[in-house]
Amino acid sequence: MQDILLKIDGLTKNYGKQVALSQVSLEVPRGSIFGLLGPNGAGKTTLIRMINQIIFPDKGEIFIEGEPLTPAHISQIGYMPEERGLYRNMNVGEQLLYLGQLKGLSKSQANKQLDFWLNRLEIPHWKHKKLQELSKGMAQKVQFIATVIHQPKLLIFDEVFSGLDPINAEIIKEQVLYLRQEGSTILFSTHRMESVESLCDYIALLNRSKLLLSGELRNIKRQFQEDKYEVGIIPNQGSSFEELSHLYKISDAQFPSIHNEKKWLVELSTQQNSNDLLYYLSQRGKITHFKQQIPSVSDIFIQTIQKENNKS
Ligand code: ATP
Repeated sequence: MQDILLKIDGLTKNYGKQVALSQVSLEVPRGSIFGLLGPNGAGKTTLIRMINQIIFPDKGEIFIEGEPLTPAHISQIGYMPEERGLYRNMNVGEQLLYLGQLKGLSKSQANKQLDFWLNRLEIPHWKHKKLQELSKGMAQKVQFIATVIHQPKLLIFDEVFSGLDPINAEIIKEQVLYLRQEGSTILFSTHRMESVESLCDYIALLNRSKLLLSGELRNIKRQFQEDKYEVGIIPNQGSSFEELSHLYKISDAQFPSIHNEKKWLVELSTQQNSNDLLYYLSQRGKITHFKQQIPSVSDIFIQTIQKENNKS
């Protein structure tokens, strides 16, 4: 049986007449990276705030390691909110030591963790800098350390990559992977589909307070997969491809090409198979590209939300 660290069971939250979350149930496996996706106003922050006990559900329950969530769990959770709150007059080291101790570390443990993370984030010389001297993206790295310093079991990041340049985004991405490797469970909300592609083992998609899909990303991709192939070919002299459009449903291919090649997106019917297509092409030139199209998270997001919104 799967080891579930966080279980969300039938969570509902209303703000007056506004339904923010409606009957949402989810399971976050231990040691996974779980992406919480959804359009603006879908209910992601509401859910995250309830896990952090900042607001409370009208209905439903949250369990950590099978136990109902209580204030005692707060020390086991590291939360990086979207609006970051740091004390601007303190210096980076003082601030992080203070926050680490507030979360239960001894001074020497906090010091050790602080040096470890400043090094990992490639900012060892920042210890004595004042927060107000840092840019938004720089302050975000400090906030990241504040979130992870007490080595919580569950890490929750709200838009962790927003405001970071590509190099710093990569540094943070590496840390998220490192934390998973060390056994942490990570839940993060984001609008950046490329970070979901490269990081997430599991996803959940919320829309207008409801959960539309959730599960292992590779299974979800499999469900959305169609029998479509991107093909590229440098034709032999005199080769004709007239028959291709009679045999298959074809459209323009979008993949970037470096060759001066012909390229198509070819859709197979249930009776057709990719070997026949490959054979057909191999008779007519040098194949430069042959790849089954895997739906991207962005395709899945857009397709699912549009289908749902068209219902109403
Ligand atoms: P975004 O991607 O824009 O951050 P989100 O998925 O995090 O959106 P939430 O902030 O959870 O969405 O909002 C869900 C719904 O609840 C929205 O309709 C929002 O207007 C409403 N809402 C959120 N906070 C409050 C509040 N304090 N008072 C009233 N309504 C609220």
